[in-house]
Amino acid sequence: MNVPARFDVAIIGAGVNGAGIARDAALRGLRVIVLDKNDMCSGTSAISSRLIHGGLRYLEYAEIPLVYESLHERRCLRRIAEHLVKPLRISIPVFSGARRGTLLIRLGMIAYDILSFNKLLPRHDMLNRDEIKKEEPGLRTEGLLGAARYFDAQVKFAERLVLENLLAARSAGAEIRTYSEVREIRTCDGAVDAIFYIDRDGNEHEVGVDAVVNATGPWVDEVLKTAPKTSKRFVGGTKGSHIIVSSFEGAPKDAFYVEAAADGRPFFIIPWNDQYLIGTTDIRYDESLEEIRASRAEVDYLVAETNRVFPQANLGVGDINFAYAGVRPLPYREKGPESAITRRHIIKVNRKIAKGLISIIGGKLTTYRNLAEQTVDRLAKILRRKLPECRTRDTLLPGAWGIDRAREQLAAADFVTERASDRLLSIYGGRAAAVLELATTDPDLAMMLDTEGRYLAAEIAFVIREEFAASLTDIVFRRTMAGYDSDQGRPLFPAIAALAATEFGWTTNEQDGELRKLIDYADSFRVAE
Ligand SMILES: Cc1cc2nc3c(=O)[nH]c(=O)nc-3n(C[C@H](O)[C@H](O)[C@H](O)COP(=O)(O)OP(=O)(O)OC[C@H]3O[C@@H](n4cnc5c(N)ncnc54)[C@H](O)[C@@H]3O)c2cc1C
Repeated sequence: MNVPARFDVAIIGAGVNGAGIARDAALRGLRVIVLDKNDMCSGTSAISSRLIHGGLRYLEYAEIPLVYESLHERRCLRRIAEHLVKPLRISIPVFSGARRGTLLIRLGMIAYDILSFNKLLPRHDMLNRDEIKKEEPGLRTEGLLGAARYFDAQVKFAERLVLENLLAARSAGAEIRTYSEVREIRTCDGAVDAIFYIDRDGNEHEVGVDAVVNATGPWVDEVLKTAPKTSKRFVGGTKGSHIIVSSFEGAPKDAFYVEAAADGRPFFIIPWNDQYLIGTTDIRYDESLEEIRASRAEVDYLVAETNRVFPQANLGVGDINFAYAGVRPLPYREKGPESAITRRHIIKVNRKIAKGLISIIGGKLTTYRNLAEQTVDRLAKILRRKLPECRTRDTLLPGAWGIDRAREQLAAADFVTERASDRLLSIYGGRAAAVLELATTDPDLAMMLDTEGRYLAAEIAFVIREEFAASLTDIVFRRTMAGYDSDQGRPLFPAIAALAATEFGWTTNEQDGELRKLIDYADSFRVAE
């Protein structure tokens, strides 16, 4: 494919918002280039609670349009990415003395059902004390009054959702450049004219563009500083951390949304990837945006609150498999409670800085598609172009095609275990058929990498050839998703490194160096006892 000398739009940041905008813009015929300073989905989009949800809590802040939009988008994502976005049943236990009593929760549930009137998921139900104890025997009995139960959705691996948006953008002609850090937005006569970036080898590049979308999440203000004119502050992040533990004594079947005793904030305990994802915290944050870690105080808070609700859990810091933390790119507000800052997105046209420049402030995983549609509509006006209608609402993401056929083909392949087949479908959807094809054409790639028979060697070649993975960390943490197994996929590291070395043509030294970086990265998720 010929790479154009000049692009209609450069999208800086390949998180969920940048990827979604790239897909929409490319599908509507714009010449698009996407740049990320790291791998795709290496920022906020990778550290969330992984829910595709209406945001029940936003009802408390009367963010009705946001809840409505989110519930609508939840339905849409279930349709266009059925392999990635799955229904999730959530229970809200009610304890005596809690800030939110049974009546308030019931009203919230009714409002949630009404706002998602055309939903495909079942409505809420209310359970009395005995009913919820029967369903969830590990739940604390003391002060328990009953529970509400409702459905939302979960994207187990948001990384794959982001990737599939980029793959769709690439198929529609977009140019994707990871490990490309934008250092300057250049202007001519007050309008965006070019972006200057540095690649992973330190080479400098300039690309001519007519518009720029700054979709860098918490880095939005940093990127704006690279434009010739200064601006006020737009993003004021709050930090959120999660801990991940293996199943514990008394662990719930369903996800739980619980009011913390310490501060009355609701937090989630969610069955995720054969483990439990517990979070989040919400703390104003003004420090470095690189290598953010869950603090000991946050970890202790989440452990203590989980033990309070599920007393047999008796979790300690040593039970944590790993933890992750990041910053919500929320609109900047000098004061006020963190939880009250709006979760609505703002598509900021920065015409005072440069014509043709847009910044994305906020935005949830759940609403990325709609945000992208609105952004491309804005771009059309800025570029004075009549673009076709948005198609992302109904066009399936690449892995959502051919799932049944891929399932049949996997079942017929004698070297693929049932576990591997289920895993492959949940990661690659219908594209698992292409992974299988690689394995059938090359016997070296038809091996299983682990004794449990879950990982297929062909995946490594596939994600390098087809999904622009450029390092072992990309492969393990953002493509095969082995990095989020309870052992972080560590037993697989040497075999993956050997396969990647063959694909990339690495020397032994290069392979060792990559392996070291991967181990350091995996270690960075560990919580010190
Ligand atoms: C703790 C927590 C829990 C959350 N839970 C949920 C949830 O359950 N459901 C939900 O819907 N939403 C949730 N969210 C919100 C959601 O995750 C984020 O708002 C969303 O992922 C933001 O995506 P983004 O693409 O704007 O930013 P990011 O994902 O941060 O992407 C920005 C990208 O820009 C790149 N970048 C930065 N500077 C440069 C540069 N100079 N050049 C090139 N690239 C650059 C970064 O490398 C990064 O990849 C949660 C957020 C947090 C923090």
